[in-house]
Amino acid sequence: MDKQPNRLNVAVVGSGLAGLTAAAMLRQHHDVTIYERGDVRVATGGQGIIISPGSTRLLESVGFDRKRPGAVPIDGFRVYDMYGKLMEQAPMGLQEAFGDTILAMKRSEFREELLRLACGGDAESEPARLILRSRVTALDASAGMLTLEDGSRVGFDLVIVADGIHSVLRDTIIGNTDFKVRKTGLTCYRVDAPEDSFHKAAAGRERPDWWTSTMEASGSSSMNMLMDTSGRVAAFYPMREMTWVNFSCVVRTTNSTKETTDSWYADGNVKSLLAHFEGFPDVLCQTLRTATECKEWELQELDEIPTWACRRAIMIGDAAHAMTPVQGQGANMAVEDGDSLRLFTPGTTRDEVPAILQLISDIRRHRLGQVLTENRRVNTELTSVTAKVTSNKDFYYNYQGIQHAAAAWKRANNRAA
Ligand SMILES: Cc1cc2nc3c(=O)[nH]c(=O)nc-3n(C[C@H](O)[C@H](O)[C@H](O)COP(=O)(O)OP(=O)(O)OC[C@H]3O[C@@H](n4cnc5c(N)ncnc54)[C@H](O)[C@@H]3O)c2cc1C
Repeated sequence: MDKQPNRLNVAVVGSGLAGLTAAAMLRQHHDVTIYERGDVRVATGGQGIIISPGSTRLLESVGFDRKRPGAVPIDGFRVYDMYGKLMEQAPMGLQEAFGDTILAMKRSEFREELLRLACGGDAESEPARLILRSRVTALDASAGMLTLEDGSRVGFDLVIVADGIHSVLRDTIIGNTDFKVRKTGLTCYRVDAPEDSFHKAAAGRERPDWWTSTMEASGSSSMNMLMDTSGRVAAFYPMREMTWVNFSCVVRTTNSTKETTDSWYADGNVKSLLAHFEGFPDVLCQTLRTATECKEWELQELDEIPTWACRRAIMIGDAAHAMTPVQGQGANMAVEDGDSLRLFTPGTTRDEVPAILQLISDIRRHRLGQVLTENRRVNTELTSVTAKVTSNKDFYYNYQGIQHAAAAWKRANNRAA
């Protein structure tokens, strides 16, 4: 076990995908404590998430095991009209180009695996300590001091703020209150169902192509969509070794009922989901009807912010760059952010913390600026759904990690100097 001197004392605020990835990276050489306001099942929802080859590569370097969450490889994409007629299809060719496919998982099981990487027993490094039901209320970024809900104060060398889209510490780091999340005019319902309900709904009927290409794929599956011209989209893919199906159903927000303070895991209502998708195939509606849990989220995003870091603290994940799920990049960027903390190499001293955080902020802000611009561009300029989903493949899937990004950054800045 690594017991070198100069281990930094690190706090992580929030045990979502960003916080847990950061903790998994930092525990390799430093002492990590995670503060989470909820209990162990916080902020998950059973529905699905897709992770791209670049993120998988970063996570595998600290022991990520894709078999534990039963990840399903996704390497294709099909678009159908609302009656099930095939409109577009694209084999993505990711395995050949990037050595891996996209992985589809239940979000709760992906988070469970990240929790193991951050806090599980390991002969090589000290596990991060997770303190549940412990809400952070304030931050003194110069001192690295956190205030907890019970009024107690705890000091650290380094503070990672990963408290999600409605971050309570964002304004403190930026130094003003100008940056707020805003709604995008789209609502996403998320539901998952065991393959059984999909099978039962299809029983006795001719199986539609969109159904067989989702559930009967061999090797790797595809992400499929049924959509109409008014902007209603039902996207679905298999997960947990093909025994469950995730549905993400997006409609234009007609009657806004949610507060901007709601989060992406707020509960929704299957009846209102079904009302929106009237006229879509019976097999789909019957499957959606069996869902025991439904999440409803009026999609929100955050404008680019001027800095992620202030002295001993840095924001990562949705706290720094909440975006719509159009290109499925939110969690991938959270994983990349977590990886960037590897710049805290063994032996880093407390005095070196602010300069390293500033470098990470500069490098990551630059990349996220490009991601947010692309996310909006594909949404507004591209009409082909395949182009929306598959553009920028190299940029997203070939990311090589922070050491590589930092070397490129230094080369570019030396040239400019
Ligand atoms: C409908 C939808 C589908 C998506 N699908 C994908 C996808 O397929 N692929 C993809 O890459 N991305 C996807 N995303 C985006 C992705 O889910 C998010 O970007 C990601 O979950 C952000 O992780 P996070 O750790 O930053 O925040 P969160 O997961 O929100 O975690 C924040 C954590 O901080 C805790 N917390 C908050 N405040 C405090 C406090 N004061 N003190 C202590 N703890 C606190 C919370 O309880 C929570 O556990 C999707 C998003 C949506 C809305």
